[in-house]
Amino acid sequence: MGVPVEQHVMEHRGTLPSGAQEWKCPTCGRHFIVNWPPRYQQLVLEEGDANAAHVGSRGDVRLDGVDVAPAPSPQAEDAWRSWLAENGMTWDDDGQVA
Ligand SMILES: [Zn+2]
Repeated sequence: MGVPVEQHVMEHRGTLPSGAQEWKCPTCGRHFIVNWPPRYQQLVLEEGDANAAHVGSRGDVRLDGVDVAPAPSPQAEDAWRSWLAENGMTWDDDGQVA
């Protein structure tokens, strides 16, 4: 404690059909996909600055009564899809992974 830590604000880039979210840091390039609990999983595509404190922001997502669902990048979707396959999970269009 007491040591200043650089703080980076992550940007929400999109949401995959499974519900997993793509996040990217515009400052250092940290790039990952996260699936929230109850099945918490994180896939790091780009390490970025591991010493910085990363905080999420939804400031770029407008929720004016419209369900905004920005599309994830093809890179993120491919990475997530192959990660699921490597872990014995199949892509399910219903979003229901038993
Ligand atoms: Zn960063």
